[in-house]
Amino acid sequence: MSYLEELIERVIKRNTGEPEFHQAVHEVLESLEPVLQRHPEYVTSGVAERLVEPERQIIFRVPWVDDTGKVQVNRGFRVEFNSAIGPYKGGMRFHPSVNLSIIKFLGFEQIFKNSLTGLPIGGGKGGSDFDPRGKSNAEVMRFCQSLMTELYRYLGADTDVPAGDIGVGVREIGYMFGQYKRIRNVYEGVLTGKGISWGGSVGRPEATGYGAAYFIQEMLKARGESLQGKTITISGYGNVGTYFIEKANQLGAKVVTIADESGYVYDPEGITGARLEFLMDLWCLYRSPARVYAEEFGLEWVKGKRPWEVPCDIAVPTATQNELGYDDALNLVNNGCICVAEAANMPCTEDAVNLLLEKDMLFGPAKAVNAGGVAVSALEMSQNSMRYSWTFEEVDAKLKNIMENIYKKSSQAAYEYGFRNNLVAGANIAGFKKVADAMLAQGIV
Ligand code: GLU
Repeated sequence: MSYLEELIERVIKRNTGEPEFHQAVHEVLESLEPVLQRHPEYVTSGVAERLVEPERQIIFRVPWVDDTGKVQVNRGFRVEFNSAIGPYKGGMRFHPSVNLSIIKFLGFEQIFKNSLTGLPIGGGKGGSDFDPRGKSNAEVMRFCQSLMTELYRYLGADTDVPAGDIGVGVREIGYMFGQYKRIRNVYEGVLTGKGISWGGSVGRPEATGYGAAYFIQEMLKARGESLQGKTITISGYGNVGTYFIEKANQLGAKVVTIADESGYVYDPEGITGARLEFLMDLWCLYRSPARVYAEEFGLEWVKGKRPWEVPCDIAVPTATQNELGYDDALNLVNNGCICVAEAANMPCTEDAVNLLLEKDMLFGPAKAVNAGGVAVSALEMSQNSMRYSWTFEEVDAKLKNIMENIYKKSSQAAYEYGFRNNLVAGANIAGFKKVADAMLAQGIV
């Protein structure tokens, strides 16, 4: 067994019952064989062993009182994974499925994603099994305040800077920020994704979706193609999906599906204009199921199926982990799809990714494709430190540049280490090397 295979075995043994974390570690370590061969100093200094073990993991009780006066108890998490290149940075996810495995896989991915942005941010992630859907504003506020009453002691603008993820938008960030400020009596950029009037950055809400579109453009360019005239299928229609549609439309493409866990809608005309506006409210204001979109525009609601069966040129999963499996990938291949780009975190299963790579399809891994969100979070941190704000045009131009650089770095690393056009390996290697070199320089810590 090779050194890395042994390490994967050890990770599985030491972290029992954490399949998502195992999956994320396996995918990264698999790419590193040629890097470690060329750089034995990474092996002697145990960089990989240290990388797979979080620097700190915090699990805590979050008690709160619901509107009927009943006490509810949720579980809070923050995994501070790696601070070699900057303060821990990564979102908070509020969703009933949240457990340590999910937060650890997200935190692990975040290390490499954040490194790829070229900005000084380490990797971390947090969240809770709290479900904001169906809760009143007052309940969400009490929950967020209770969570921050414990979490604040681990955070700081130069220590750990959370943001949003699934179930956490500007409302939740606001309640957490207010409580942090009250306890610490400091006004600092301890969270990103804030409202514009209280330290947020313009362009942050758009960043993940726009960034994904910029990245796809670069992938297509390399094959002499563009987004112009392309038909795209997506799944989630939250913050990532809706702004992705907006940018894809601007670049001449057409997005024809949205989905949730119970089915999908196919809109052959494309989601544009008033329909996109309706969709944005559907999620941001009402957290409504996708079926409501079908009902509003007299479209068929395809129950119990995934949108990946709809013929398209490009498929962009925008919802959650492992939402696109082997059979979905096979459908895409058979239907003539040329590109799959992961705008969500780890949305494709390992066997789906392997099939797509085997078929030489353009495949954009999450760490690269969806890095735009955290990149603009880092720009928000810079603006907070300067007590200054950039215009939308300035932020958007920086985002575009960052996404182009991520594409360049990933494809160059893939070629350099013999992975041809495999961007999964390229992104892993490019993200890893920056962190590994910083860890080497800082000694065994
Ligand atoms: N949750 C987002 C991600 O997966 C954004 C994190 C952030 O802005 O810190 O990258």
